[in-house]
Amino acid sequence: MTAFIFNELNFDNHEQVVFVSEAKSGLKGIIAVHNTNLGPAMGGCRMWNYASEAHAVNDVLRLSRGMTYKNAVAGLPIGGGKSVIIGNPKTDKTPALFEALGEALERLGGRYITAEDVGTSPADMAHVATKTRYVAGLGDSGDPSPFTALGCFVGAQAAVKHQLKRDSMEGLVVALQGLGHVGYDYARRLHAAGAKLIVADIDEAALERARTELGAEIVSTTAIYDVQADIYAPCALGATLNPDTLSRMKVKIVAGAANNQLATADIGDLLRQKGVLYAPDFVINAGGIIKVCYEYLNKPQADVEAHVREIGDTLAEVFARADREGRSTSVVADEVAEARFKR
Ligand code: NAD
Repeated sequence: MTAFIFNELNFDNHEQVVFVSEAKSGLKGIIAVHNTNLGPAMGGCRMWNYASEAHAVNDVLRLSRGMTYKNAVAGLPIGGGKSVIIGNPKTDKTPALFEALGEALERLGGRYITAEDVGTSPADMAHVATKTRYVAGLGDSGDPSPFTALGCFVGAQAAVKHQLKRDSMEGLVVALQGLGHVGYDYARRLHAAGAKLIVADIDEAALERARTELGAEIVSTTAIYDVQADIYAPCALGATLNPDTLSRMKVKIVAGAANNQLATADIGDLLRQKGVLYAPDFVINAGGIIKVCYEYLNKPQADVEAHVREIGDTLAEVFARADREGRSTSVVADEVAEARFKR
């Protein structure tokens, strides 16, 4: 028999991978604790109609590893983990399903703390919370997206300073993809700082709002990659930095909120060779997890903004080191994280 987990593409010495199920509610889930050197593992619970169990396993392995890096580089006292529920979030959700997940988290005794993610909501987490205290982001103190947007904005400022040697955003052109929870707030900040926006979304209402409120120019979802701009801000989908888009892009900086922006790891180096400064996604988009972590640990909410603003300083260090060493910003950011969590 071949080993299943240990041979998986995304297996990276995860401390623990737990399969959880409950017949009554129909729960089929996987919890992956990647690394707890810095503290209990924290990361959201994704609900998705996976094509196969192998897809679910690979997703939870990849996402939990990513949380270790994100949490470490953000200077948070937590490790990395993630959970997935196999099922259709539109049709298969019940309170009992999330209660069963809560019971499973309770059995892990606090090694993993969950929160909302793609396919789950604060309301779902409220059901989890009836069975365990190992859940964060319950929605009573609001949406973390504005903090993610703030992190993106200070990250973009750091990138502009490094790459364009400018302290101001005035007159810069930003091609922004995705005017959702994070993207719109980020766009609002860029507009207030004097940047000109060129935007794309599939949501007509969001586009119209950006046009009237922020004076944004609208382009199609495919044309956004061809725009002549200073910054490309991906705030919708993953893997938008790939050989096709790279050959079309005419920007000097990539600074956006989307997770997993590089289609493959080597794209980080290709961006460098093309002279594009890439703000690594897991560094620039950590504002939301900083907010959620403060809430969970009962740390003063008044300190969240200052912590999120440190994303700018961290990126400035990553950019400078990448230049000095002639390496991609993504590889350098990985090493910054590893220096913190590996021991
Ligand atoms: P959201 O669902 O609120 O917004 C996504 C937006 O992208 C929507 O307006 C949607 O219509 C648009 N969109 C979808 N397909 C598109 C396409 N093909 N072209 C252009 N636009 C398209 O999500 P969000 O919470 O704003 O998150 C945005 C991204 O940032 C995601 O990748 C998410 O994983 C990542 N992220 C979010 C947070 C957070 O705090 N919300 C934290 C870290 C990372």
